Amino acid sequence: MSRGDMAKPLLGHGSTEGDPGVTPASGRTIGVLGSGDFARSLAIRLVCSGFKVVVGSRNPKRKASLFPSAAEVTFQAEAVKKTDIIFVAVFREHYSTLCDLADVLAGKILVDVSNNTEINHHKESNAEYLASLFPACTVVKGFNVVSAWTLQSGARDGNKQVLICSNNQEAKRTVAEIAQVMGFTPVDMGCMSSACEIENIPLRLLPAWKIPIFLALGLFLCFFTYNLIRQVIHPFIREQKNKLYKIPIEVVNTTLPCVSYVMLSLVYLPGVLAACSQLYYGTKYRRFPDWLDQWLQHRKQIGLLSFFCAALHAVYSLCLPMRRSHRYLLIETAVKQAVEKKMNIWVEEEVWRMEIYISVGIIALGLLSLLAITSLPSIANSLNWREFSFIQSSLGFIALVVSTLHTLTYGWSRAFDENQYKFYLPPTYTLTLLVPCTVIIAKVVFSLPCIRHRLLRIRRGWEKGRYVKFVLPSATGEYSSGETSSNV
Ligand code: NAP
Repeated sequence: MSRGDMAKPLLGHGSTEGDPGVTPASGRTIGVLGSGDFARSLAIRLVCSGFKVVVGSRNPKRKASLFPSAAEVTFQAEAVKKTDIIFVAVFREHYSTLCDLADVLAGKILVDVSNNTEINHHKESNAEYLASLFPACTVVKGFNVVSAWTLQSGARDGNKQVLICSNNQEAKRTVAEIAQVMGFTPVDMGCMSSACEIENIPLRLLPAWKIPIFLALGLFLCFFTYNLIRQVIHPFIREQKNKLYKIPIEVVNTTLPCVSYVMLSLVYLPGVLAACSQLYYGTKYRRFPDWLDQWLQHRKQIGLLSFFCAALHAVYSLCLPMRRSHRYLLIETAVKQAVEKKMNIWVEEEVWRMEIYISVGIIALGLLSLLAITSLPSIANSLNWREFSFIQSSLGFIALVVSTLHTLTYGWSRAFDENQYKFYLPPTYTLTLLVPCTVIIAKVVFSLPCIRHRLLRIRRGWEKGRYVKFVLPSATGEYSSGETSSNV
């Protein structure tokens, strides 16, 4: 939020009456200590939600104009006297300056909204520290995961969840009710010992993406080095040709589809491994090893990164003819052919191969886009389980098969051309085929009636060596797919 924005009141100075978006007043008075960004946004949201708000500031005269007129801005001690629930919108470093208020605060609920600047910055959480300073108060941790901006944007936008914890159930329920009236979804995180975890949440940088991003970077680095050796270092050593110009576009563009293709197969490989484990042990109740569990949980992010690389590959490919090097090589080839008086350069097989290769690539990218779009929570929530599973599982597998066709049409003939083996290294695309083809073959094997039947029984609770009266899925294939095992 810019300074200019913060300087002007965020809500008109009129009352909220008559505004159709305003929740009916609950009548409860809520106190806010502090008059900073968070305190102001909180006060506005509370007023809009129908609460009476009293703000406690060290300098009420100066700060009053920044708050809606419906909120009363007064001295800290005055504000605290008027309410039983007080949001402490002050940084942890300044908690001790509130100790003078200990007597008036006694017996009241303090909501600690504070965050730290580093994960596990202090030995004890801010909320526990506040509770230690005010033992006669009941402290509830909450609202720290929503920003001042989210508070202002109302129920229309922003994060809706408010994580709450406290050792006092009654106080926790009261704060949860306030959150609900304000249009948030309170999430009970248990007792005060969870405060540290709640305070760390806003500081975590894409926790679910760490492993997939490292995986993508690792694959990129491996394939990039491999392509660099084949496309730049090999011609330099063997023919003393300088091909460094290939690094920014050609080498990157050969690397991106490899990463995308292998990442896509890595979305389906853990499912195959999980199925193998279930078939081997004859049960779905045996826990998967931790690494497989982690892998299964990161499939969405791996798939999205696969789509990202595929999209970049498409853009890079479209830009290939724009390069100067491409034009020079094209003219050079044309001149050579003119000198050699070659009139017919049309190679029917090459033409067809290229047409099919591009067409299949476009289809693969289209399918990947569909997978990416349906993995967005807002879209995924509008699908029932069967629709989601059909798109993510069946269409995803089709995307893998189509990508394999794309790869094969590109370089099938190259695999048998010994000139393509630079330093005895096979063409990159042949390497990339390894994991996806394993997944495809495994999926085909699992679809064989005898294996599929056994897998379905296991996923519906049947266990090897234990007699269970079992009803097979009907001919229409109607079986509930909500079980944990179906997720693989
Ligand atoms: P801020 O703009 O700097 O406001 C802090 C307020 O604390 C001041 O306006 C001041 O109000 C009050 N205060 C009381 N005693 C103080 C003292 N001794 N020294 C300095 N200030 C004192 O900070 P903020 O962004 O509103 O954040 C307030 C709390 O909310 C922090 O704990 C922060 O971690 C938490 N939080 C903020 C956000 C956000 O988006 N900003 C999001 C989540 C959580 P008076 O001068 O009127 O007394």
